[in-house]
Amino acid sequence: MLTNTPADPSPATGTRAGSPAGSGDRVVLKIGTSSLVTDGRLDPAKLDRLCDTVHRGVIAGLSPVLVTSGAIAIGRTRHPALAAAGTVVQQVAAALGQSRLYSAIQAAFADRGLQTGQLLLTPYELVEAHRGGVRHTLETMLTLGMIPVVNENDALGVRNNDVLAALLSGFLQADLLLLLTDVPGLYDRDPTRSDDARPIGDVVALTPELERLAGGSAGGGGTGGMRMKLGACWIATFSGVRTVIADTTDPDVLVAAHSADPVGTAFRPRAVTGATPGIGTLWRAFRTPPRGSVRCAPAGLSAVERGETLRHQHIVESHQTFDNGDVVDICAPDGRPVARGEVRCAGPCTADPASPLVAAGDYVRIVEEQPCL
Ligand code: GLU
Repeated sequence: MLTNTPADPSPATGTRAGSPAGSGDRVVLKIGTSSLVTDGRLDPAKLDRLCDTVHRGVIAGLSPVLVTSGAIAIGRTRHPALAAAGTVVQQVAAALGQSRLYSAIQAAFADRGLQTGQLLLTPYELVEAHRGGVRHTLETMLTLGMIPVVNENDALGVRNNDVLAALLSGFLQADLLLLLTDVPGLYDRDPTRSDDARPIGDVVALTPELERLAGGSAGGGGTGGMRMKLGACWIATFSGVRTVIADTTDPDVLVAAHSADPVGTAFRPRAVTGATPGIGTLWRAFRTPPRGSVRCAPAGLSAVERGETLRHQHIVESHQTFDNGDVVDICAPDGRPVARGEVRCAGPCTADPASPLVAAGDYVRIVEEQPCL
């Protein structure tokens, strides 16, 4: 049951009913805007269901970290100017909506005896090791049996919470990343365009081809869509974290996903040959869907296989002109995607053949059989 009381009824204990503090397996649970907000308002029934889901996880002995969207959608209703498109408008909407989002979550969780604390992060706190402060906060909260409630600090710039949750799952070496949404998982083709689309239960290794089949679009006020969720899946599974995409309808979904019961679509942790890519490399390679692809000459493929910088002179074909920071698929001479990474050009991409296109440490090797060009 929900109340309007913002105060935590048991602030002194800081522990969870039915579970020793901080003893459980770590799980990162991300919920999207459309699973929490209806017509610009936090939906009490949806919030109640989220609380049930988390509470059942806690009773089962898990230590959840919750990543919630919804601030922008809620904030947009607070001023007529905020209904417009544009990044600055989104940032302002987030500034107005975040406190409303968090205080409702805090009150609802407190009703169940769960103590929460709010963290507004950007990916930089997770991928730049010298910004070490957040690890102490998260570790201490989890040890004390509190539930960290995380959102992107959208007032500074809006990114994507699926990706943030994936980074967090790798940062904490969680047992599970659960991406809750309003569809029951991944389909073998875009279910909004095809009645024959069939759900996929188990993904052994994500491929660019599967990504292309899955399609999907953003909606419901968030920045999500299936392509972004798959970006998150690349990051989490390369970090060694099992990942599940499922819908919000069943409050046992967290416990079921953690127990590896068949729920939604499960992505197995990636088997990586050689050194595991660091979290910063994973972020640069997978934080957005690729803008396009480049096909390498044999020397370019060798450079990628040795983990060296890919240079303009290594490229024989490119379907786009790329800007600094774009994500691209790097394909072998026969067109197979072999890596994905971030284009790094000093200023506009230059024709200097020796200049770097994708620097060592900015791409991740992937394997796929289908040609991408
Ligand atoms: N963090 C944003 C919000 O709270 C949304 C971004 C996203 O949905 O990924 O509204």
